[in-house]
Amino acid sequence: MNSKETAANRFPFSSASSSSAPLRLCVNLLSLLLFASPLLAQQASVTQLTSDVYLFRFGFHSNIFVVTAEGVIATDPISPQAAPLYLREIRKVTDQPVRYVIYSHDHTDHIGGGSVFQPDGARFVAHQSALPVIRGRGVQAIVPPDLLVGDEHELRLGGKLVRLMHLGRIESESNIAIYLPQDKVLMWVDAVRSYGVPYRYLEGTDLRHFRRALQKVEKLDIDHLVHGHGPSTDKSQVTLFRRYFDDLDRFTRQEMKKYPVSEHRRTSGQRDPHLFFDTYIQRIASRSHARMRSGYSQLGGFESWGSKNAERMVVFFLHELPFE
Ligand SMILES: [Zn+2]
Repeated sequence: MNSKETAANRFPFSSASSSSAPLRLCVNLLSLLLFASPLLAQQASVTQLTSDVYLFRFGFHSNIFVVTAEGVIATDPISPQAAPLYLREIRKVTDQPVRYVIYSHDHTDHIGGGSVFQPDGARFVAHQSALPVIRGRGVQAIVPPDLLVGDEHELRLGGKLVRLMHLGRIESESNIAIYLPQDKVLMWVDAVRSYGVPYRYLEGTDLRHFRRALQKVEKLDIDHLVHGHGPSTDKSQVTLFRRYFDDLDRFTRQEMKKYPVSEHRRTSGQRDPHLFFDTYIQRIASRSHARMRSGYSQLGGFESWGSKNAERMVVFFLHELPFE
């Protein structure tokens, strides 16, 4: 498939003999590309998940592509470095054009480099809340979505059904779960992690939405769960996260009941309001985190991010629990 090699491989070598400054710059860029490309290519790999669905990994990031008789459904192009390699891997499997590029959410590190799919006439799909955010950031390397979807959308191509489900504010307002019921594949990026506990303070996530979403996703028929980072896993990872939140919720409530804010006011002697809340949050979080240890210490990041997860849960309940 020589006609479909990456842009880096199609550079005009003959121009290298020119001595003009712009061309020298080109030559420098070319040599950079030539030396960098093999290294970049080494970071790319593809795994076939089902007869039509493939997992693409580039370094720390991952996505899927779906092959149908009427074209390819691609997902997050990741970055300008990853996208040409992603397209190259797609071309190894099929000559069908890429009809859709579905953005899992608006975060820049997942959706750069989509212009490689524009010659195919691909439509760029995202939740409707993604467009103003992407426009607002104004990152040149991101193709703005041109097919905006609401909270439930069914995309069909070549007999393949893709359900796009907005499950709430999880990591960002525009996060959608990309579900292929026929293949039992779910791509749900930056929500359930493959490599350990939830991300830090769960920035950008509404805890209530997340827990409802986990319950909903747990009911789906899933053989392969794709996370946007790391390898794919299966539905047991969703169940693990749901249990993790259930336990963190329960322990945090119990610890706050045992030692309410009013008690901290009486006993801490802390008059500085910043330190008053910091010390309260840290005290409760460290206790609930310690109680989580017996069930979850084997999870990656339990000691570092796990303690931040616990702090986030305390802050959540400070705003949620009724007055003492
Ligand atoms: Zn991410």
